[in-house]
Amino acid sequence: MIAWLSAIFVLIGLAAHIATLVPLRRLIAMLPAGSLRKKWLAMAAMIVIFIAGYLGYIVVLCGKQTEWYELIIPVIFLLGALFVWLTINLSLQTAADLRRIVLLESENITDPLTKVYNRRYLDRRLDVEVARAKRYSLELSILMLDIDHFKRVNDTYGHPAGDTTLSALSSLVKNDLRELEVVARYGGEEFLVICTNTAIGGAVLVAERLRRLVESHLIEIADSYGTNKNIQISISVSIGAASLSASVDSKEKLLRAADKALYRAKEEGRNRVIAASTEINETP
Ligand code: GH3
Ligand code: MG
Ligand code: MG
Repeated sequence: MIAWLSAIFVLIGLAAHIATLVPLRRLIAMLPAGSLRKKWLAMAAMIVIFIAGYLGYIVVLCGKQTEWYELIIPVIFLLGALFVWLTINLSLQTAADLRRIVLLESENITDPLTKVYNRRYLDRRLDVEVARAKRYSLELSILMLDIDHFKRVNDTYGHPAGDTTLSALSSLVKNDLRELEVVARYGGEEFLVICTNTAIGGAVLVAERLRRLVESHLIEIADSYGTNKNIQISISVSIGAASLSASVDSKEKLLRAADKALYRAKEEGRNRVIAASTEINETP
């Protein structure tokens, strides 16, 4: 009886260890290459060693127990295996939940079409940046970009071509800017760039560089109204730049100043940069 119980406990423990390898494999597959993954691989190796130990115990000692106290070790074997099984399963569930939360958070702040930040994130971030700039007397500028005659792209080549143009433009802008600068979709075909620690002069230089980049870049689109083939088009953007100052001292005023500058850029012929405060006018 004692020998049988001992064998059953150790066998269940062995099965639990083997079963643990399945969630452990899924957990390791979720992790990017790096030190954490290596540590979990070391954990997998430990479990394999445990399995060998359990097998060794079964071969050498099973069936030899005659006293009740000799069940202590098989019971520890069983509980140890269940503990490892539970720990790995909880770790897998925690990792999966955390991954879901991170994904949800990222979806919550990302524009689905252009993959840049959305308006919700922009509003929050601009509040933070304005407060920080005012508190520590830092420079803060924004650029408001609007695609020129974008309606024509939709009307001539179809809405999907317009969508492709929007994503191509956002990738272009995002790839050109420093990691530190925030690019967000402000409205339909309008984008906003937050340039932290940047005065109006620097912001105009960035804007002018972007304007030239967009102007010279060819975007490949599918012409769904015409030949139905891929064609290359070029677009241009008008940009309004504004900076925080003694008179422009809030998020709302900053956005209004950039919007006004953008409006002037449109009025003055498009494909140009206008700075709100210093009236710097860069024409092509
Ligand atoms: P302007 O140079 O004055 O800015 O002219 P515009 O044609 O760019 O401006 P307008 O405001 O007349 O048109 C904006 C167009 O942008 C109209 C709208 O259908 C289009 N648009 C807005 N959001 C999207 C989108 O997500 N996808 C596509 N394909 N088009 C969009
Ligand atoms: Mg617009
Ligand atoms: Mg436009």
